[in-house]
Formats: sequence, C-alpha cells, structure tokens
Amino acid sequence: MKRHTGLDRNITRKWRPATQAIRGGLVRSEFGETSEALFLTSGYSYERAEDAAERFAGEQEGMIYSRMQSPTVMMLEEKLALIEGAETSRTMSTGMAAMTSVLLSALSAGDHFVIGRVAFGSCRWLSDSLLPRFGITATVVDGADVQQWKDAIQPNTKLFFFETPTNPTLELVDIEAVCNIAKEAGILTVVDNAFCTPVIQKPMDFGVDVVAYSATKMMDGQGRVLAGSVAGSNKFVNETLLPFIRNTGPNLSPFNAWVVMKGLETLELRSIRQSENAQILAEFLEKRIPRVSYPGLKSHPQHALAKKQMKTGGTVLALFLGKDRQQALSLLNNLELIDISNNLGDTRSLMTHPCSTTHSGVAEKERLAMGITEDMLRFSVGLEDVEDLKEDLDQALRKIGL
Ligand SMILES: *Cc1c(COP(=O)(O)O)cnc(C)c1O
Repeated sequence: MKRHTGLDRNITRKWRPATQAIRGGLVRSEFGETSEALFLTSGYSYERAEDAAERFAGEQEGMIYSRMQSPTVMMLEEKLALIEGAETSRTMSTGMAAMTSVLLSALSAGDHFVIGRVAFGSCRWLSDSLLPRFGITATVVDGADVQQWKDAIQPNTKLFFFETPTNPTLELVDIEAVCNIAKEAGILTVVDNAFCTPVIQKPMDFGVDVVAYSATKMMDGQGRVLAGSVAGSNKFVNETLLPFIRNTGPNLSPFNAWVVMKGLETLELRSIRQSENAQILAEFLEKRIPRVSYPGLKSHPQHALAKKQMKTGGTVLALFLGKDRQQALSLLNNLELIDISNNLGDTRSLMTHPCSTTHSGVAEKERLAMGITEDMLRFSVGLEDVEDLKEDLDQALRKIGL
C-alpha cells in the first residue's frame, strides 16, 4: 500500500477541496510528523560549494533563501492552489501586499486599468493615489453594471480589478459576464475573493485569471494573523508576479503561514456554518430594520446572480438602520456579545460602522456613490450559537427602539 504525501498532483488534484485543505501540500520530514512542520529558518546550507552555484543558476532543485522559498510557506501555497483549482499560488504578508504585488507587477507606466467602485478602502487608495504617481491610470465603474466595464476599455487597458460581493455593501459583480468582456479584449481579470473563500465562490470557474485574497479573513478565520495570497496560472505567477515578490520581499513569515495552514483545515466547516448563521440572522434582521443587504436574501437585487456564482450567501451582512450615524453607533454600543471591530471573517461575530472606520478615508461624495451611508453597519457573522447572536441583536435593537 502506498502512503500519499500531499505533493503528488496526480493524486491531490483528484481529492475534493475539504480533503485538499487538510492533506494537500504536505512534505514530511524524516520524523514523519502528521501536522506540517514549522521551519523557522532564513537560510539553507549546501553539501558542496558547487551545489550553491547550481541552485543559484536554477540547475538544481532546492532552497537558497527564505525570500525565495520556504518549506512551510511552500506547503501552504500548494494547499491554496489545490483548493482554488489554480495552477499555482504565492502568499504575501498581508492581503494588501497581495493586491499591491499583483497590480505593480502586472501594470507599467502608460497602462490603464478598470476597478469596481465599491472596493476595500486601501484598494481604492492604490487606484486613486499610488498607481497614478507611476503613470498608471484607472477608470472607476459601477461594478454591477456590466456595460460600464465594456465602455471603460481604452486601447491601453490591461487589467480589470473587482471584489464580489463588495466590501461593505454586498453588491455583486457578474463574474462570467465581465470576464467574457475582458477575454475578448485580451485584458487580465483579477478578483479580490476575500469575502467568499474558495469554499463559497470559485471565480476561476467563471473565467477569472487571478484570484487574490486577504487570508487574514476567513482563511486564518480565527482572528490571529495577517496574510495574503494570489492564485493564477504558472505563466502569470512565475513570469510576472514572482520576480516582483522575490526582489521586493513582501513575503509571508513561516509562522503566519503555519497558522493559516491550521485555519485551512476547518475552512469548509467554518464557511458553511458561518453562512448558515448569516442567513438566519439576515432573515431575522430583515423583519426588524429598514434594509438588509445580503446575497442570500430573496430581496437582494442580484439574488439570482448570487445563486449562480456563490454556494451560500456568504458570512457578511450590511445593515441599514434608516436614520443617522448616532443611531448606528448606539446599536454598536448596546451590543453585549458581538464585538465592535473592523476586522471580519473571524469565528467571533464582529460589527463595524464603515463610514467612520474602514471607509473614513474615502471622500464623502465618493462614499455616498458607493452606497456607504451613515446609518449602515457591516456585520461579520461568526461561529457562535446563532440563538445567542439573535438574542444579542434583539436586546440591542430594542434599546434603540427598533
Ligand atoms: C481585509 C481586506 C483586504 C486587505 O487585507 P489585509 O490582510 O488586511 O491586508 C483586501 N480586500 C478585502 C475585500 C478585505 O476584506
């Protein structure tokens, strides 16, 4: 009988994602450990001086320096590629390091790209403030309006960048329709899939070229470490992204890689259960407050699209209480179990006021165009017993007269 380690792709590709997340990518040391080893080393030694020369020349397999390769990080990257269904993947120190690396490696001065309006605040800072300094221009479009993507194309357009569902309004982008437009024009598509994880949404099944993550969110999933990842073709990752990473050094530490790897073992379980909790709470809240934006609700204007491209409605809700900032902050202040926190994708339920926190850096006019109003709260649903969450929401809502 043959024992499988997790590196033989002929075998690991056949496994289902929940198995890949636990078994994929394992390289056992001579001790035969069951859980992946944590290799804390910055360098590697060579038997012979000639080995070093050959490895630097790329003529011999093996590690040379942890900015180039690391055994623990490599195991995580293999797992991530497998569960994404991508040819390969690379990790970075944060989600923003991943987004920045993709954009700076794929674009050059004189290039143009198109970005969905509602995006993570720092992603919009890249498009609005950083990249223009290097001669890279962006057109901002309403991501939900497919025609706007088409109309934004210029002769020098190289890339489409979007989130779906969007943070924090939970609007969707029709992945397949936008990718079809990009393909026709030879444009690279990049999706920030942090809100979904590959358990809930597989953008590559709908034609996306590059899938980027804040692995800080559902992948670690327990609020411990920052991490980012990028999955794509061998050609994009090895030829475009890798030279940038290896020479600029936004690497993920082996320790954080190990923590994320432990998180991945329960990614499917957590994603499904937290989505179930989110669906129950969305239905509960919809009866109590003026509006809830959640792709799993029939009232979501893109519910049919959600059913097409997402397995569940996800784990995040946008709540609109109907009045002003004071009302929204009062609800937060009356919560007893759910934390006031701007993080998301944790086992703990977290709620934040995007207007005054995550999106406070966006100009008010643009914030309103994004649909981020003063009465809005973002609710990341955790893994607690849903009845306890419901009771906490109920008592806090009653205290503010809802
Ligand atoms: C959190 C987040 C990021 C940034 O990730 P970090 O790990 O915090 O750097 C990017 N995009 C989305 C959608 C996020 O939620």
